[in-house]
Amino acid sequence: MNRRAFLQTTVGGATVAALWPFGASRSQAPLPPSSTPMPLGVAFDAAPFTLGVASGDPLADRVIIWTRLAVSPLTGDGGLPENVEVSWVVATDPGLTNVVRQGKTAALAQRAHSVHVDVDGLEPSTTYYYRFSALGSTSRLGRARTAPVGSVNHLRFAFVSCQDFQAGSYAALRALAVENLDFVIHLGDYIYEYAADSAAYRSHIGGEATTLSDYRNRYALYKGDSALRDAHAAFTWICTWDDHEVADNYAGTRPADDSSAAAFAARRASGYQAWYEHLPVRLPGSAPMNPNGFPIHRRFELGDLLDLSVLDTRQYRTDQPCGGQTGSCAGSDDPNSTMLGNEQEAWLKNNLSTSKAAWRGIAQQVMMASVKLGGLPDWVKLPDALKDVRQLGEGITVNHDQWDGYVAPRRNILGHIANNSIPDVVVMTGDIHSHWVADLKVDFDSLSSPVIATEFVGSSITSMGFPKGSNLALKTILSRANPHVRFVEGERHGYAIVDLTHERWQTTFRTVADIKKPTSPASNLVTYQVQRGKPRATRV
Ligand code: FE
Ligand code: CA
Repeated sequence: MNRRAFLQTTVGGATVAALWPFGASRSQAPLPPSSTPMPLGVAFDAAPFTLGVASGDPLADRVIIWTRLAVSPLTGDGGLPENVEVSWVVATDPGLTNVVRQGKTAALAQRAHSVHVDVDGLEPSTTYYYRFSALGSTSRLGRARTAPVGSVNHLRFAFVSCQDFQAGSYAALRALAVENLDFVIHLGDYIYEYAADSAAYRSHIGGEATTLSDYRNRYALYKGDSALRDAHAAFTWICTWDDHEVADNYAGTRPADDSSAAAFAARRASGYQAWYEHLPVRLPGSAPMNPNGFPIHRRFELGDLLDLSVLDTRQYRTDQPCGGQTGSCAGSDDPNSTMLGNEQEAWLKNNLSTSKAAWRGIAQQVMMASVKLGGLPDWVKLPDALKDVRQLGEGITVNHDQWDGYVAPRRNILGHIANNSIPDVVVMTGDIHSHWVADLKVDFDSLSSPVIATEFVGSSITSMGFPKGSNLALKTILSRANPHVRFVEGERHGYAIVDLTHERWQTTFRTVADIKKPTSPASNLVTYQVQRGKPRATRV
């Protein structure tokens, strides 16, 4: 039995110990002494469960529980033997006395000793507690919650994105971890591939991530901040990726830099594999990861209240027009462009058409509403970082990496919603490190085009947004040119809380006072509501 076949048989936690030379009898290796000090805010859990635990992808009867074993998490292979036997237990109480499921599985070197157990046979809308043990040690305790079925009156969840380790502390994740939530959605930019910047708030280790070992070390570094581990242990997450899990602004199989197609294909495969190894994700079936990519778009039905489509706007997209830059160019409305690829676009349209839930949520990466530059009155002062904006001119597209670079597929999807009178669609977006509330319309250039859906863009956990001191100028420019934009703020960092009933979708942006302070508390920035049947968001 080869390792690949073995991996398939262990999904779901089947006991196969008799077939495998497990490392359970090996003594636990101590953490090796570190010759260089850890970056600011990095302190791992006890070995071998240094990277903590996580749960994800909740269904009514099952949830993924995750861990990754590593005794030296910043050194590629994690410093462990080839294969390690891992036991897991799931109970209804934090003391783990009322055990409902338990089993053994294998942490394999080829998967960086990550463990993904799809724990089935669970009850809907139920909170569980779980823990792993291996090599004579136990992990921290995790909490997971299954999806509801049938009649659901209320859900409360968060969406987050963009947690550049170098840009600040994880104060927002520390605050998130003590919220009262059913689940958390991560919209991508979980890591950044950037090389170490010694001038940053805290520094990455090493150069730009390009290899599997680089990406593994980068995830391990990020998980070295206990606030991220606390937030994972507290809630069940639904994760998707954006560009920085591989490389800035890549599009499908095309890198944004001048690296070769073959080099980028290998890099993308490494980034995708490391993403899977470090997050509590259920891949379709039990197939091993395909180096040419694997689908991660998925649908979650949360009773009769929310039908959630989680998108992948990176893997299948055509190249950005205009080199992805601000401005206008020929080919910016190419009818052959695609953001989702044909299969995923058809899947999304079918989800929207067939859903019977009160709300259709779309969790995705890049801003869907159009964003153009407006004129700037002379009285508005611009900070130095933006002094060239005044010369760019009015009415030009700000960012062709967003849906503004994919006008035809945007029109197709929003047209599908309009033509079929699909009600109560709300889009949740990350990527641009700023808060937005926007009306979605088939034609953003027409004031008479009706509002058919609503978009909420959450700010970053840490990643840099508008340059300091530019909020007023940018709000002025952007509001004048984009009448469908109802709110914009770009200097704060935090997360979004969605409070959902059959009557209204309510999004509250919560921000931390100072991302340079790890214990900085979160407070409400603003709350907007959408009433059922009325897609125009209003401030509460
Ligand atoms: Fe980002
Ligand atoms: Ca991004």
